[in-house]
Amino acid sequence: MAKLCFDIPVVSQCAVSDCVYNINKGCHANAITVGEGSAPDCDTYMGASSHTRKTQVQAGVGACKVTSCTFNDDFECSAKGIEVGYQNTNVHCLTFHPR
Ligand code: SF4
Ligand code: SF4
Repeated sequence: MAKLCFDIPVVSQCAVSDCVYNINKGCHANAITVGEGSAPDCDTYMGASSHTRKTQVQAGVGACKVTSCTFNDDFECSAKGIEVGYQNTNVHCLTFHPR
């Protein structure tokens, strides 16, 4: 398996406890994708009762499709880190800031 080394923003906190990648407000996917259409949804969210075993991994933001966000640079996130949580019933990047 190839090992990739590069700097990407971290998911510093996520309040979506029913997501398979979430343990104790931490996201443990390798990387998430943000954006579904123009909304800053977490596209990697998967609701289920089971959870990942990879607790040593802290997720990064691999890609973001929300070009209307001030932190979006060439379809990538340029923030230091992001927070994810519920906004009404949607699982959103809470760091989203419109241009
Ligand atoms: S950031 Fe997305 S993928 Fe990670 S735990 Fe939260 S909802 Fe799940
Ligand atoms: S802060 Fe903006 S650019 Fe970064 S992931 Fe969230 S919506 Fe995308």
